[in-house]
Amino acid sequence: MPRALVTGAAGFIGSHLCQYLLDRGFSVVGMDNLITGDTANLQHLTGSDFVFVRHDVTNYINLEGPLDWIFHFASPASPIDYLRVPIQTLKVGSLGTHNSLGLAKAKRARFLLASTSEIYGDPLVHPQREDYWGNVNPVGPRGVYDEAKRFAEAMTMAYHRVHGVETRIIRIFNTFGPRMRLEDGRAIPAFFTQALRGEDVTVFGDGSQTRSLCYISDLVDGIFRLMSSDLTDPVNVGNPQELTIRQLAEKIVALTGSRSRIVNRPLPVDDPKVRQPDITRARALLGWEPRVSLDEGLPPTLEYFRKRLGL
Ligand code: UDP
Repeated sequence: MPRALVTGAAGFIGSHLCQYLLDRGFSVVGMDNLITGDTANLQHLTGSDFVFVRHDVTNYINLEGPLDWIFHFASPASPIDYLRVPIQTLKVGSLGTHNSLGLAKAKRARFLLASTSEIYGDPLVHPQREDYWGNVNPVGPRGVYDEAKRFAEAMTMAYHRVHGVETRIIRIFNTFGPRMRLEDGRAIPAFFTQALRGEDVTVFGDGSQTRSLCYISDLVDGIFRLMSSDLTDPVNVGNPQELTIRQLAEKIVALTGSRSRIVNRPLPVDDPKVRQPDITRARALLGWEPRVSLDEGLPPTLEYFRKRLGL
C-alpha cells in the first residue's frame, strides 16, 4: 500500500486531497498545526489508513516508516490570514518547505509543492502562462504569501537539481467548494455568509476585478495527475472561466434567494485586477481539464454554507 504525507491536511484543499488518496488505496498521514485548519474537516476520514499528526512543519519533521509521496499544502491562504499571521505565512513557505523537502530527500519520496497564482502578483500578462515571471510587490501586505511561495518554488527546484528529488509544482488558481473556512474573508465564503444572513454583500473596489474559479473536485484531480506525471516544471491548474467579482456577488445573491444589498468597500492593497489561468500545459501534458462549471459548483457549496450556518 503506497503511503502519502499531506501537510496542511486539515485545511480546505488538504482535507479533500486526503479523501481522494484514501479512495485510491493510499495510506495517508495528515499533518497540520491547526492555525487555519480545523480537525472537523477530517472527521469523516475514519479507518486505519488515515493518521492525523498535529505538528508545525516549520519545525523538524520526524516521521517513522516509509513514504512514497509528500504533498506540501500547509500555509495560510487568504488575504486576511496573511495580515493576521504574516510571519507564520513566511515561515511555512520557507522553513516548512525546506523541512518537507528534507523529508522527501531522506525518504526518497516524490514531492509536490502547492504553489499559487499569487506568484504572478498583479499580472501584466493575461491570461497567465507558466513562463510569465510575475509582478509582485515584496513589501506589500500580500508579499508575505507571494514571496514565500516564490521562495518555495525556488527551493523545490534546488532540491530537484542538487539532490535529484523528484519534484512537482502546481500553481493553484482560485478554488472553491465545501469546507472553505467560513471566516477566511475570501470572496466566496464572505458572499455566501453575508447573503444567507441577509447582511450587506461587500464587494471590494468597484467589483470590476476578475477571478476564475475552479471547483475543488477538478483541482484535486489535477493535483493527482500532476503528481503521477514526470513534469518538474510548474503547471497551472484552475478553471479559465473568468468573471468579475461584482458578477460573482450577483450570482450568489440570486442563488441564495437573498434580499441582501450589494455594497462597495475599499479595495485591499495590491489586489490583483485580473486573473485567469492559461491551462494549455495541463491540457496537453496531463490530459486535465475542468469538468465542473461555476454554476454547477455553486449549489453544493451553498448547501455546505447553509449547514455550517445552521440554516
Ligand atoms: N472580495 C470582495 N469582497 C469580499 C472578499 C473579497 O470583493 O468580501 C474581492 C477581493 O478584493 C478580490 C476578489 O474578491 O478582488 C477575490 O478575493 P479572494 O480573497 O477570494 O481571493 P484572492 O484575492 O486571493 O484571489
